[in-house]
Amino acid sequence: MKKQNKKQEMSRRKFISLAGGAAASLAAMSAIGMPVDWALNNPEIDVDSLNTDKIKTDVLVIGSGMAGLFAAVKAHDAGAKVVMVSKGRLGASGQTPFAKGIFAFDPEKEDLSLDEFVAKVSRSALGTNNKAYTKQMAQHSLARVNELKEWGFFNSSLYNKSFSKPIEERNIPVQERITITHLIKENGSVVGAAGFSIDTQKVLFYEAKSVILCTGAGGFKPNGFPICDLTHDGTIMAYNIGAKVTGKEWNDGHPGKSENAAACYDGWGDMFEQKPSTTGVEIRHDLGVDMNYVAYKNGSPLKMGPPGSGQQTDVSGGPYTPEEFTRQNATPPGGKEGGRPPREGKGGPPKGGKGDGAPPGMGGSIVGGSSAGMAIHKSEGLVPINDQCESTIPGLYAAGDALGSYMAGAIYTQIGSSLAGSAVQGAVAGEAAASYSKKINTVTISISKLKEIEAEILAPLKLEAGYSPAWVTQTLQGIMIPNFIIYIKKENLLKAALAYVEELRDHHIPMLRAANMHELRLAHETKNMIVSAEMKLKASIMRTESRCSHYRLDYPEVDTENWEVWLNIFKGEDNTMQFEKQPFNTWATT
Ligand SMILES: Cc1cc2nc3c(=O)[nH]c(=O)nc-3n(C[C@H](O)[C@H](O)[C@H](O)COP(=O)(O)OP(=O)(O)OC[C@H]3O[C@@H](n4cnc5c(N)ncnc54)[C@H](O)[C@@H]3O)c2cc1C
Repeated sequence: MKKQNKKQEMSRRKFISLAGGAAASLAAMSAIGMPVDWALNNPEIDVDSLNTDKIKTDVLVIGSGMAGLFAAVKAHDAGAKVVMVSKGRLGASGQTPFAKGIFAFDPEKEDLSLDEFVAKVSRSALGTNNKAYTKQMAQHSLARVNELKEWGFFNSSLYNKSFSKPIEERNIPVQERITITHLIKENGSVVGAAGFSIDTQKVLFYEAKSVILCTGAGGFKPNGFPICDLTHDGTIMAYNIGAKVTGKEWNDGHPGKSENAAACYDGWGDMFEQKPSTTGVEIRHDLGVDMNYVAYKNGSPLKMGPPGSGQQTDVSGGPYTPEEFTRQNATPPGGKEGGRPPREGKGGPPKGGKGDGAPPGMGGSIVGGSSAGMAIHKSEGLVPINDQCESTIPGLYAAGDALGSYMAGAIYTQIGSSLAGSAVQGAVAGEAAASYSKKINTVTISISKLKEIEAEILAPLKLEAGYSPAWVTQTLQGIMIPNFIIYIKKENLLKAALAYVEELRDHHIPMLRAANMHELRLAHETKNMIVSAEMKLKASIMRTESRCSHYRLDYPEVDTENWEVWLNIFKGEDNTMQFEKQPFNTWATT
């Protein structure tokens, strides 16, 4: 402790003397009673005494939501040794605990054939969906739903119990509250991952023959957002080792409140009280962006409600909806169409919407427009090279919201498919990763790589002075959250936002400081959010058209000639962000 105080004192003196001219202002601040150590790091732990552990496995599953559950179970059942590691807790982290409707396609009962279903989703998604993943989700959804039923998923509103059942029956080790910060590649293939534990204060290395990213999506941690552990970690870690990622220009449609532009997703609390249920094949074309467009044109507040529900004042222009999917005065979700599962003991419209047709939990009749910062489920994430959830890096797989499968395209085509897609893709990735790992004899991470990564993980704790991750995150939110940045897009504002984000990337990321393990996690998360923001802005600038959840005020039309493509992002040899077009319905090349 004494040693620590001495170190801090030295740091403080060194910083003040180094700060040169700034020292005079610090002295002046001190004279008027303002604290002078605003930028200094005051470590609460002795970073040099942190222990390291190394864990060996065949398949490493990162993330413990719906995708992670099925990835771990199916990889184990296919004969692989599996370790599951998660930033949160099994069945109680990520978006999974909030989802209450899971899609099941029962060919015996549905009027649509599988192929008709896929074709209708494609019409709704304006061609942006990957038909192989759309079909796979529908084809295997019932089998996954039946397994969940066996594990007790539909008996309780809380998922940790039913998720623990198959994991405990198989003795699959689960390590919780571990933040994975790095994927590790040697000789072109993935060989594991690294991160740290908040609870044991250890740096952890995982040597694995294959890795499945089930890390979910990500946002910018806006106010009221229930999923603050999701900060695009998976896509950014994969991008850092050379994987292709996609889907950054699309936007999740959940808008915010007029009272507080950053308060999107308020009021989802009672989702925990609902029991899950199954949903059917009703295909729609819901955006959320159109509500923001109306708010942008008319000002707030607006009444919440799905497109065509009669809650919104008509305005000209705005995002395009195919005729087949316009829903004039349609019954809102939760009403007699039965698009969402009914709430137990409560008939009629969901509570959150105060009877105005809001989706459950949306909490109120007002929207102002803000963005969570994530894309529509399953459109953002690692680029697959086949329908086995394999990424462009050998040995690296992804499933669920971490995979850019374009299962439903760049839009929310039907309720419940997202949870079903995570289950189906988790199972597919689990089996594929197990089969891949059987072909690999052994993997080792070189000592030099271990040292390099450990230094990168701990860097914010070693910084003598810098920016707190909370401050940098708030700055990023101020840039990215207004609805006229990534909902109602135009070139000059996208470029202005990008200039700020590039400043955060170049100047603030290297100066993110952390005094303890919690701040260390925030520092790594903040870094990932900044890189994701850069991707979102650059992809949005590039796509000079409007389609689905990407709406450009300066390019309002769908451009079929130039933009029947997905936009992939990868790190160039000079470490700069590169973009490439991949035509719809083709697989990426590595
Ligand atoms: C409020 C709300 C309501 C929804 N309702 C529905 C619905 O009714 N029906 C539907 O189909 N979908 C719904 N969705 C979407 C659905 O919940 C998600 O698409 C789905 O749960 C994603 O599952 P996943 O396993 O891919 O990711 P997640 O469930 O998000 O899991 C990600 C996991 O990765 C872990 N993780 C992240 N980063 C790291 C890291 N660096 N290191 C280690 N672990 C990490 C997290 O802790 C978590 O365990 C809803 C979403 C929300 C937010």
